[in-house]
Amino acid sequence: MIGEKKLCVQCKKEMEVVDVKPSNGNEVQVLSCGHLIETPQSAHEAIADLPSAYETISAASKQINSLNDILLFVDKSAMSQQEKEKTKEILSIIDKEKDSKTLPQIKQILNPLKDWLPVASPWVNLFVTLFLKQ
Ligand SMILES: [Zn+2]
Repeated sequence: MIGEKKLCVQCKKEMEVVDVKPSNGNEVQVLSCGHLIETPQSAHEAIADLPSAYETISAASKQINSLNDILLFVDKSAMSQQEKEKTKEILSIIDKEKDSKTLPQIKQILNPLKDWLPVASPWVNLFVTLFLKQ
């Protein structure tokens, strides 16, 4: 914010922010002494860039409201196309059966897909945590 006081690491003194410029997804604040401060991109944008599914899941879980949101993150993950398809199939089955069946019953329905459960498990766990009453 312009007018804000920021510590300039070069001058080791508090300086006023006189200008803010966008730069490569980051923000550059220009201080009254002429030095620059780069601020990192927002946390929201950073989530999409995270490499591993686990990190994506834990960071993203706060903004997930439906199965669709999880499926979007599955699509963005680093899994293979087949792993994504199977994961989405498993999640769809759980979503369809969650109101009428218990978790053990759902696990039985998923038996034919059990080879894919290790791959899908972080997403399944997330879904179960967010949407299933246990
Ligand atoms: Zn300075």
